[in-house]
Amino acid sequence: MESSSSPLKSNPTAEEETSSRRIQRLSLHLNPPPSENSAMEMATCAARAKLNVNTTQLSLLMRGKHRDIQEKVYEFFRSRPDLQTPIEISTEKHRELCMKQLLALVREAGIKAFKYVVEDPFVYFAIAEAAGSVDVSFGIKLGVQYSLWGGSVINLGTKKHRDKYFDAIDNVEYPGCFAMTELHHGSNVQGLQTLATFDPLTDEFVIDTPNDGAIKWWIGNAAVHGKFATVFAKLMLPTHDANGFSDMGVHAFIVPIRDMETHETLPGVEIQDCGHKVGLNGVDNGALKFRSVRIPRDNLLNRFGDVARDGTYTSSLPTINKRFAATLGELVGGRVGLAYSSVGILKIAVTIATRYSLFRQQFGPPKQAEISILDYQSQQHKLMPMLASTYAFHFATLLLVEKYSEMKKTHDEELVADVHALSAGLKAYVTSYTSKSLSICREACGGHGYAAVNRFGSLRNDHDIFQTFEGDNTVLLQQVAADLLKQYKEKFKGGTLTVTWNYLRESMNAYLSQPNPLTSRWEGEDHLRDPKFQLDAFRYRTSRLLQSAAVRLQKHSKNLGGFGAWNRCLNHLLTLAESHIESVILETFINAVKNCPDASSRAALKLVCDLYAMDRIWNDIGTYRNVDYMAPNKAKAIHKLTEYLSFQVRNITRELVDAFDMPDHVIRAPIGKQTPVEAYSEYIQQVGFQ
Ligand SMILES: Cc1cc2nc3c(=O)[nH]c(=O)nc-3n(C[C@H](O)[C@H](O)[C@H](O)COP(=O)(O)OP(=O)(O)OC[C@H]3O[C@@H](n4cnc5c(N)ncnc54)[C@H](O)[C@@H]3O)c2cc1C
Repeated sequence: MESSSSPLKSNPTAEEETSSRRIQRLSLHLNPPPSENSAMEMATCAARAKLNVNTTQLSLLMRGKHRDIQEKVYEFFRSRPDLQTPIEISTEKHRELCMKQLLALVREAGIKAFKYVVEDPFVYFAIAEAAGSVDVSFGIKLGVQYSLWGGSVINLGTKKHRDKYFDAIDNVEYPGCFAMTELHHGSNVQGLQTLATFDPLTDEFVIDTPNDGAIKWWIGNAAVHGKFATVFAKLMLPTHDANGFSDMGVHAFIVPIRDMETHETLPGVEIQDCGHKVGLNGVDNGALKFRSVRIPRDNLLNRFGDVARDGTYTSSLPTINKRFAATLGELVGGRVGLAYSSVGILKIAVTIATRYSLFRQQFGPPKQAEISILDYQSQQHKLMPMLASTYAFHFATLLLVEKYSEMKKTHDEELVADVHALSAGLKAYVTSYTSKSLSICREACGGHGYAAVNRFGSLRNDHDIFQTFEGDNTVLLQQVAADLLKQYKEKFKGGTLTVTWNYLRESMNAYLSQPNPLTSRWEGEDHLRDPKFQLDAFRYRTSRLLQSAAVRLQKHSKNLGGFGAWNRCLNHLLTLAESHIESVILETFINAVKNCPDASSRAALKLVCDLYAMDRIWNDIGTYRNVDYMAPNKAKAIHKLTEYLSFQVRNITRELVDAFDMPDHVIRAPIGKQTPVEAYSEYIQQVGFQ
């Protein structure tokens, strides 16, 4: 049985260590170790070791500075049952309801999100998260209107576009779409085939879908509600040579698709419905085909490239690639928003699953009361590291939103590069983690987790596509890896590293020297819970992966060329990107602990942060062992400490999930309720019993 104090020791000297381990081994032969903790033993221990957490203080920290506006959203929907999404609803009705939710938010609750996309993205993401927790489809519908359609007009256009469209987008008079993806090209945006050909005679662009592969596909708001679309197309300019036209690369154009009065589809535009989906059925995704659709020259969103009346092209950026990068760079807000909302969904799922696990009881020692399922080590193993990750991601995505907001204000080049890679990495890492966790949470709640009323099914299905849209996760992680390799080369050229990558300078030197044989055996709790040890370990792994990836790429590129070599090392590169993102997440969490003003919250966060770090190190212990960065005794100590910390976190789990402060109507009955009696009675009534 564990004692309530830590199972681990302080660090011995090398000789002490050798002799103590010899004695330990001997004594193990004589006295075999006690059996693994039973759940009851843990529960007893739990009572003794409990940290005293001030939930109000912790909640203040976790609710964030824009909770007021989120409360307004929650309050509005709480007071309007007619606007709440029922469990069973047809696709058609769901789409209409989502539109009603959006209109009511703007026109009745008076919460206008669009201005925040530009002025204060932090507030915008807070509104989107709150909308998404009412119904994920509603959150995405809002995102399509303001971040995708509205964001493209504001960020890729100039003053004339803002003056003409801002108010009508804001009050949803102009519902719109963001039409980038085509049937044949999703991730490879540079492969888009839709054409926008300039006609100097009429001063118009002519939008064409040259073949069926170029039909715009999956376009949110297109099937039913959209009146406009920002269409991404290759800009073709007439030339006087034999070619006839010059391809200036992908640009964005505002194309009206439905009549403002009658809502009829406009001539030359064909719209089809992408149909019922696995999730997000409140969003009307459609397909768009264009046949010689004429739009005024002014409809080119001309911030990064413009066409004059005489057909002359001008741009402050010298190449197609640079213009393309600048255009996509302006769209990272969508990724930032998805990462942020994904953490919101993870908070909901973790809250439901841990609260349920606290009150649900199954089995117990003979002739004694049944125990809470959260007292089973396996249940703790499923949920406690997940709870710790939720906290970790909370701080990491806050950092991302802060950086993004700063970037929008300053347009600082270094920050742009930093936000680009960080948003790609965090979006990919967090949404993948949340997707897996939603299934684990469902399973952790047994059969009741499968009841639609308890939300896991809809959350899982709605969230699943977060891994694909706004950039497929596998593709995004490659962008992170590519950026790391670029930074790595810079380092050897003596150049500067951007802020997020700065740590590589030090850890790369550490990696290039041999692991320290003494510290690799340190197993004391103080050492393992020292942020320096934890960060060093994460960064060492990243540096090692980076250095070996660079060597492998160089080796393979001789025979396979750059593309082939990249593909040969692809899994390695993805691991590298994830490892880097984990380092950034841990660093942010450590800083959040350090800067936490309230002592009780700080102690709770430190515990959770340590669990996050230990769990990740333990997950990848093979890597550390392979290179002797950690000796067997240390690996064992890490495993033991991870279980111990899980168990400590379990003791304050109610406080930790309460601090998320998710409103009741978001955490549906029965398993969001505080007591089993309350919860089950509501559940029984919902099922139909009197
Ligand atoms: C519900 C929904 C809503 C959407 N809304 C919109 C919208 O409003 N507007 C819009 O323009 N688009 C929208 N999309 C499209 C979405 O952005 C694309 O689906 C996404 O970009 C991925 O493209 P794809 O589907 O062509 O996948 P693909 O690019 O074909 O990817 C398929 C698989 O191949 C893998 N793969 C691809 N390239 C690589 C590579 N280089 N290395 C390794 N693996 C690779 C991917 O990891 C993935 O597993 C939406 C999609 C859905 C489903």
